Order: sequence, then C-alpha cells, then structure tokens
Amino acid sequence: MNTKRLTLSLLAHAYTWTWRMLKPMRRWLRPGSWGERVLRRVEHLTKGPLFHCRMCGDCVLHSTGMVCPMNCPKNIRNGPCGGVRDNGMCEVYPDRVCVWVRAHERARHLPRYGHEITHILPPHDWSLEGTSAWANALHGRSPLTLPHWGTPTRDRPVGSRLEQVLREGTFAVTVELNPPDSANPEDVYKTARVLAPVCHAMNVVDASGANVHMSSLAVCALLVRAGYEPVYQISARDRNRIAIQGDLLGAAALGIRNVLFITGDHVSRGDHPHAKPVFDLDSIQMLHTARIMRDHGHFLSGRELSTPPSLFLGAVANPFVPPYEDRVERLEKKVRAGAQFVQTQYCFDVDRLRAFMQRVRDRGLDRKVHILVGVGPLRSARAAEYMRSHIPGIVIPDAIIRRLRSVPRKKQQEEGVRIAVELIQQIREIDGIAGVHIMAFRQEEWVPYIVEEAGL
Ligand code: SF4
Repeated sequence: MNTKRLTLSLLAHAYTWTWRMLKPMRRWLRPGSWGERVLRRVEHLTKGPLFHCRMCGDCVLHSTGMVCPMNCPKNIRNGPCGGVRDNGMCEVYPDRVCVWVRAHERARHLPRYGHEITHILPPHDWSLEGTSAWANALHGRSPLTLPHWGTPTRDRPVGSRLEQVLREGTFAVTVELNPPDSANPEDVYKTARVLAPVCHAMNVVDASGANVHMSSLAVCALLVRAGYEPVYQISARDRNRIAIQGDLLGAAALGIRNVLFITGDHVSRGDHPHAKPVFDLDSIQMLHTARIMRDHGHFLSGRELSTPPSLFLGAVANPFVPPYEDRVERLEKKVRAGAQFVQTQYCFDVDRLRAFMQRVRDRGLDRKVHILVGVGPLRSARAAEYMRSHIPGIVIPDAIIRRLRSVPRKKQQEEGVRIAVELIQQIREIDGIAGVHIMAFRQEEWVPYIVEEAGL
C-alpha cells in the first residue's frame, strides 16, 4: 500500500470512528449549545490545517475525496468546471491545482467513501457557515445527497422545436448568438437574420467571458417575438437561487422553451473583475432545480407552483480538459440531474472526442442525452494562440496552429473556416453525436457557408 493510499485509508477510518463516537453524544451537541461550540473549535483546529477546511458547516469531505470543495473559487460542489487548464491547474488561480482534479484523484484511492464522488450534492445551506458540520449532520441539518426524482421525462415534449428535431434523429445545428452592447433590438435581429436560416436554434450566451452585454433573457424574448427559436443560457455566476427560479418562470412565460445551464467564467476573467461573484448554485444544482420546478411543480423551498414551466433542459460538457477520465462521470451526473441535451466546448481534437464518446457509449449515455459538439472557425494563427492561452477551457493542438501559420496572413481566416468544415465532417461520423453547435464570435457571416460546405 503506498503512502497516499495509507493516509487516505487512515482518514476514512478516522471519519467512521468519529461519527460512531459522536452519535451517542447527539443530545449534547444541539446547534448553538456549548457542546456544539466546543466541537466547532475542535473542527476548526483539526480540519483547518488537515484539509484547508472552510467551515461551511455542510460537510462533504468524505464525498469529495477528503478535499474541501469550498476552496473552489466558484463554490462548485459537483465539479470540476470546464475551465480547468490542460495542466490540471485552476482556471482562476493558475498556480493552484484544481480542487476537483485533486478530489477525483484522491477519491480513486479512498476506501469505503471514494464512490461517493459520483453523488449529486445538494445546494449548500449558507446559513450553516462557521457552525459545526458534525453537529449539523447529527441533527439532520445538512442533507448530504439530493432526493431521487426518477429518470428525466424525455417522453413528455415541452413544445420546443429543438427538442422535436433531436427526438426525430435529425442531425441538429445550433449556433451561438452573442448579445450586442446596445439597447437597440435591431442589433439582435441583424445577427439573427444571418443565423436563423441555417440552424435549428440560436444559443444566446449569458455575459460570456464575464463581460457585460444585453441580457440573455431579453435577447431570447426578442427572438421569440420575431418567431425564432432561442436557447436561453443562464450562468451560476450572477444569480442566486431566488433569481434563477424567478427567471425560469419568466422565461417559460415569455415562450422560451430551451434553457442551458452553465457555471460561467469567473468575474476575474471579464470587464468587471471587481464585481462580487454569486455562485450560489452550481450548474448541476441549477439543472436539478429546474427539473424539480418542471416535473414536480414546486420551488426548491417546497412552495408549490400553480403552473410549472415547460422547459427543455440543457447543460455543457468539456471533454478536452482534465480530469479526462472523469469528464464522463460529470456528464452522467448532469444527465441524472435532468440534462436532456448537452453542448460541448470547442472541439479541435477529434481523437480526444472519440475517446470521450467511447466512454459515453459504454455507459449508454448517448441514448439518454442528445450531445451536440462545439465547433468554430479560427480567425488567424494569432487569434488561435490568444484563445488557447487566455480563454479557459479551450484547447487548440499545435498542429492546428501550425496549419494556420502555413498560409499567408490574409488567407488564414479562410483556412480557419476550412478547418471548421473538416472538423464537422469528422465529428458527424462519430456514433452517438446528435449535432453540432457552431460558435463564430464576430464571424457570424461565415456560418451559412460552413453549414453548407459541411453538407449539413
Ligand atoms: S478549475 Fe474550476 S472547478 Fe477547479 S478549482 Fe478552479 S474554478 Fe473550481
């Protein structure tokens, strides 16, 4: 047994024995009692140095490979996010290993509790911050997993045209629409008129890169009003659970049928780096919340809805960043939480995608969720290098950059478009893929050409 395994085994035993020892003392450890205060102090002095514990009071250490998830700058309790760097370091703090890369690595060696990393952890109870996690668990104040709500209701269509296309088995095309820096609806319609004829739905990004633009919800409402099919993207970065649930009701009332949940880039990446990030729920908890509202007709609080929202639920996946082996587990969690379609980050590495799809098929996930792979044209070799080093989660192999550099500067944009077309043709051959999601930021005029050349 190596040292890591031995240490984790000791920690797992320590966890089990502490629980057994504290259980009979339950009545002296009521929240707020002197017993709880003593325990709180002990936890602070032990778990702090051992696990960098943040005293969230909602302890999940044994479910996350004995790594405290509250050290993730996005508060993700069902990680990792899609922004992990290709060397496994954190998107926000490039000098730290991603909390979730470490958690998955340790969970593999953790006896008895390691498998719990596949559990969906419920929304964090922020009112427990600074209290004793042991005392809370003993008094049922920190439910450690979400109740099971059955399989997603894919058999009940919600009136989404995108859903209909995917259910029919047509190879779907969705396109990214970037909201303008303007209050003029005509600026939205100008782009929509170019994209709509060649796609099944337009994905309206929500403050992409943590930069301010017209709100995703408003753009979607404008598109519905004009007869287009939008996908409303909603990020965890800017809203708490109260705003998210209200927006979901509002979106459904406005006629929006497709919603895509993302964690979102950290505010430090955008044009307002001094803003306060929210990250109340993570993307899996948001999906689950939407599913509870739609399928069970109540809010997270349990309060009933008079008319539940009809929504086709989507999520994102990034098979191109570490931990590669565990990316399929995260996808599976999203499917369990309610994802009915998934859009991936930009794909420039088809071999990596093939390996991911093999694991997806092995688990039968391709039959449970529609997977659309992200593709986009690169404007130039310089732009590709910039994207690779500055935009979290985008991996561009050297071979692609070399190919762009091999043509004169003026011809590089056309070469980037050719690469996108070839990628789509290769992606289409892979079993289990339901469509492509084209992202052509500030190159929207090329999308009709790409779709036609790729034979979609
Ligand atoms: S890379 Fe993402 S999931 Fe990992 S610690 Fe950083 S923000 Fe959290």
